[in-house]
Amino acid sequence: MASEYLFPPQPQAALAVVGEDRLFPVARIFCVGRNYVEHAKEMGNEVDREAPFYFLKPTIGMAHSGATAPYALGTRDLHHEMELVVAIGEPAFRIGAEQAQSVVYGYACGLDMTRRDLQQDGKDKRRPWDFGKAFENGAVLGPITPAASVPSLDGRSIALKVNGVPRQSALLDDLVWKVDELISHLSRYYHLMPGDLIFTGTPAGVGPVVVGDVLEGAIDGLEPVKLTIGPAE
Ligand code: MN
Repeated sequence: MASEYLFPPQPQAALAVVGEDRLFPVARIFCVGRNYVEHAKEMGNEVDREAPFYFLKPTIGMAHSGATAPYALGTRDLHHEMELVVAIGEPAFRIGAEQAQSVVYGYACGLDMTRRDLQQDGKDKRRPWDFGKAFENGAVLGPITPAASVPSLDGRSIALKVNGVPRQSALLDDLVWKVDELISHLSRYYHLMPGDLIFTGTPAGVGPVVVGDVLEGAIDGLEPVKLTIGPAE
């Protein structure tokens, strides 16, 4: 059995944690689609009340708050989507919503950057969303705030400004599928593990960014997420 790698493995994706010296190692990045009614409407869709649906993003290429990320490759319509991100800290398999809080490690602000033209092309051709959603610097994350410091998500605002101008603004109460429901649902399809992240969907107001834009996302009580769009490379 060989014991050495042919070349150095890519570094483990990890996030800083508020009030903790150690890093949160990231396993998988799940993302929920259409989880705010007004956003589903602006995209010409309705929320599926039957069940939430998901896509995933690679952890390699995950970007951190404060980064300057080049305008994404292969798109002419790069969009921002500001989202609440849930960080899983315990294994979870087939758990009920009432047990979900016990596996939440904390929360973060995240940007689900989207190559909207490629996503739309995929939808039109009934192809997967991967090209529109899973790309380098496509997931941008702020530090995690431990759940102990976030007793409730009720009444908290979620907002995104671009160059200081408000673009997205809502309340977390507007989430169609609540955090506990999402964890319970996902745990029937995956063995959720410590390190998993769940992007919970974006409110209305998504739109394009251009080179030089500064994106600042905030959720009451959490560390913000900031991204600057650099020149295409
Ligand atoms: Mn999204």
